[in-house]
Amino acid sequence: MVEKVYISYNYVHKLCQRSAEEIKKFKPDLIVAIGGGGFIPARILRTFLKEPGAKNIPIQAIGLSLYEDYVSHADEHEEDPVEGIAKAEEAGVEVVRTQWLDFNTLESHALSLIGKNILVVDEVDDTRTTLHYAISELEKDVHEQAVKLGRQDEVTNFFVFVLHNKDKPKRAQLPDKLINQGRYLAAETVPDLWIAYPWESTDIDLQTKLAVEQGHI
Ligand code: 5GP
Repeated sequence: MVEKVYISYNYVHKLCQRSAEEIKKFKPDLIVAIGGGGFIPARILRTFLKEPGAKNIPIQAIGLSLYEDYVSHADEHEEDPVEGIAKAEEAGVEVVRTQWLDFNTLESHALSLIGKNILVVDEVDDTRTTLHYAISELEKDVHEQAVKLGRQDEVTNFFVFVLHNKDKPKRAQLPDKLINQGRYLAAETVPDLWIAYPWESTDIDLQTKLAVEQGHI
């Protein structure tokens, strides 16, 4: 029985190449890579998204960490019972921003997100918690920035790309309009198994060998 799915760098490259034609239709102005898993796919994708004569699409990075810590919620419960119970029952999961966009700097370098098509890239959509957080926070912050600058009439669109979507019940959702307008793309939908990516490997030759044995070439 397969316990882990092994993925090689070549395979990641080909998943990005295969997906690029579909993503090109969205005409992304900016890529937001969710770290660390989204960094390498985002960079590879940029190569395949480049149109002749056009500039490379800029990549910005955000860092999100997912903490599943029921014990810490129990601790909160002691200090504030209602708050503690609500949090624990909601999800038991907390997303922490370890790195975020500096909207003022981006504005002053002609890298505004307002009114743009923004491609958000991560490696895997597991429970969807991270993607939900990223999209809802980016939408909120872009809206706030647009209000501040009097540019609310400009429409900002988001497209989500992941290498793998795990076929399982999700803990959080993405906006209906994003799904309905075909602005969610997983290069592959896979069973709910642990995926071993090449950048996590300490023995890349063995990783590649196992990936090839599983047909991920
Ligand atoms: P989420 O549950 O929010 O969709 O996924 C959170 C994060 O957990 C992902 O961005 C990824 O870093 C990590 N993750 C979830 N499933 C896997 C997996 O099968 N393999 C690896 N390498 N990371 C995973």
